[in-house]
Amino acid sequence: MKELNFLTLESFKPWDPRALQEMAYWEKKIRSLMGKAIHHYALIQEGDRILVGVSGGKDSLTLLHLLMERRKRVPIRYDLFPVHIDLGSGSERANALKRFFESHGLSYHIEFTDIGRRANSPENRENPCFLCSWERRKRLFQLAHRYKCNKIAFGHHKDDIIETLLLNIFYSAEISTMLPLQRLFRGKITLIRPLALIEEREIERYAREKGLPFGPSGCPVSGKTKRSEIKELIRTLEKSNTKIKGNIFRALSNIKLEYTFTSNREP
Ligand code: SF4
Repeated sequence: MKELNFLTLESFKPWDPRALQEMAYWEKKIRSLMGKAIHHYALIQEGDRILVGVSGGKDSLTLLHLLMERRKRVPIRYDLFPVHIDLGSGSERANALKRFFESHGLSYHIEFTDIGRRANSPENRENPCFLCSWERRKRLFQLAHRYKCNKIAFGHHKDDIIETLLLNIFYSAEISTMLPLQRLFRGKITLIRPLALIEEREIERYAREKGLPFGPSGCPVSGKTKRSEIKELIRTLEKSNTKIKGNIFRALSNIKLEYTFTSNREP
């Protein structure tokens, strides 16, 4: 496993006024895109207690950091409760996260599991990611209930949404994807994805520049999944048309039902 990134501000020189100006711009853009998603989809309300799923990757740590920052600026009050489910990769990552949560004065829950080992066992070679995400999500629901959280926030971003749409079409024969807001169990739990409008590369930059302690998952199938293939496919297509990703994303809000088979199913 590679070392976690404990470095701060790798490329940013605080004494350089141009760098300061640029940082302010891209940071403002990320904040405003998250704010836009929160307002547009009504993701956060006064008094919410939000369990934030923190895997230790760049996305979830950026989400937590942005939500903490935002809490200082907005006139509503909400609680953040980060939860890290260790999949069996060991304590290095968990310790880094523990330090991060404590340095920001957050209450948190860290749990060690064997989900990663079971997901990648020889009996489950077909689809490790399915079992892994299923088990993790089930545990997060239980923990949300235990810690009285009414919302669970995930760090899924715009690229995840686009890739999931293509994955579901290619491998599940359905047109669906992750939603910015999803009510479950008759509204008892709401899933929110405040980074839904932000691209992965912008999140990565934020995580690096802010010195967030993110690192690789350590999962043996990471980078070899169907999702990685789709990511690569989009990257290849983007070389000849930079609008590809944006077009797929916009298509999600531009469905011409009259040109689908939904009312004219195959026998
Ligand atoms: S890549 Fe690894 S950690 Fe991620 S969902 Fe799949 S099995 Fe789990």
